[in-house]
Amino acid sequence: MSKYDVAVLGAGPGGYVAAIRAATLGAKTCIIENKYIGGTCLNVGCIPSKALLHTSEMFHQMTESADFGIACTTPKLDYTKVMARTRTVVKQLTGGVEQLLKARKVDIIMGTGRLKQAGQIEVTAADGATQTVAAQNIIIATGSRVVQPKAFPFDGKYVVTTNETTTSDYLPNDILIVGGGIIGCEFATIYSELGRKVTIVEMMPSLCPGLDKEIASQIARSLKKRGVEVLTGSKITSMKVDGETVVAEVEGKPTVKAGMALVAIGRAPVVEDIGLEALGIAMDKQIIKVDARCQTSAPGIYAIGDCACRYQYAHVASRMGIVAAENAAGHKASDDLRVFPAAVYTHPEVGSCGLSESEAREQHGDAVKVAKFPLTASGMARAFGDTQGMIKIIALEKTGEILGATCIGPHSTDVVHEIVLAMKHELTIDELAETIHAHPTFSEAVGEAAELWLGKAIHTIG
Ligand code: FAD
Repeated sequence: MSKYDVAVLGAGPGGYVAAIRAATLGAKTCIIENKYIGGTCLNVGCIPSKALLHTSEMFHQMTESADFGIACTTPKLDYTKVMARTRTVVKQLTGGVEQLLKARKVDIIMGTGRLKQAGQIEVTAADGATQTVAAQNIIIATGSRVVQPKAFPFDGKYVVTTNETTTSDYLPNDILIVGGGIIGCEFATIYSELGRKVTIVEMMPSLCPGLDKEIASQIARSLKKRGVEVLTGSKITSMKVDGETVVAEVEGKPTVKAGMALVAIGRAPVVEDIGLEALGIAMDKQIIKVDARCQTSAPGIYAIGDCACRYQYAHVASRMGIVAAENAAGHKASDDLRVFPAAVYTHPEVGSCGLSESEAREQHGDAVKVAKFPLTASGMARAFGDTQGMIKIIALEKTGEILGATCIGPHSTDVVHEIVLAMKHELTIDELAETIHAHPTFSEAVGEAAELWLGKAIHTIG
């Protein structure tokens, strides 16, 4: 039996980061993975989708280049090449992670792991061979999987999940997207920018439920502007594949016909068949219950990422991985995940943190003051010819304590980090306003929003 100080189950952005940190701290570490190093994020999630989003943005910009004085004949799409490039990006990154693990002397064990008893994981390889790994501390990082309800006739080509849209070369002209959450909207952005006819069907009254309402409606507006048909408050009642056509009935609406249907209605934590019950590990609804140290109810067993957190973000998984690894390696670390950035890579993109405006008003009533700095007043946005968006900052009127922010517009997923840092370290809105921002940048709009909040705006009347 191989013996380790720390064994990590799952090699996504939670697990591989945990393994690297544990090994860096001197723990003899192994990582057990049954599919692909890098997990969902690197293989079929964040990375391929962002490579596709960058491509679609370039393609779309070329169609509008005449406005910038560049005469460009109609761009031609070679989707096979687009996907080949996307796969190369994925391969470079997954290969890089494997090298990082090896350089830190982390043993990579390919196979499916299952907790056998306290301190032991049974690993079954693809050929059926089994081995037992013993470890003083175990970090569960099994992530999440796509939800595939039986009502949809998934076939891997015409009715698909993001596992296929991030890997397959198939791109028909008409695409139906079921689910208008973040992932559905990102793919609607990709396909509409590539000139496809897209229909999104979302059961809730607005796209991206959970996001600031005003910002979600801006996302809907930008998608509609690119020709996307947005059917919110709508339910698919049946779906079938007829030859090469997906036929979907939508309650109270005309039938939708498309060459492909992407079903993006959520991801479920991977918590079954990994031996949690045998060890009596407590659950919090569908996810593994952990404290701020990422410790489960069983001593020496930690859980991180999508299997133990309702915020399904790679960077949250990685942060939890670091916290768990520090504790597993005998150090002390915790994070209550009070402040972290949330990102939506639609065009325009969204970066947010803390409370949304409606959450802040619900919790703090009239004590809340909100400022919205429009990107129409940003020099950089004007230079880019992309002035859709704003920086919205929400703070307590009396103290200037920042409660949250939502940025929408170019580079917002980067711009938001300044506010994340400010909130994490409890800076006030005055301190944000006093910070010198480079000009012209998209980030300077954060300083402008803070000045606007203080009633001292320079570049907007407010
Ligand atoms: P995962 O990445 O799911 O990794 C878990 C790993 O564990 C997998 O490799 C799995 O095969 C393995 N595993 C599971 N069970 C076992 C077992 N029993 N034995 C061995 N191995 C096992 N997040 C962002 O922050 N930004 C984005 O832009 C973003 N875009 C996304 C786009 C798409 C299309 C999708 C689907 C997701 C996106 N996400 C994004 C979410 C992000 O991918 C996840 O939040 C993140 O991957 C979670 O990391 P994790 O380590 O918890 O789990």
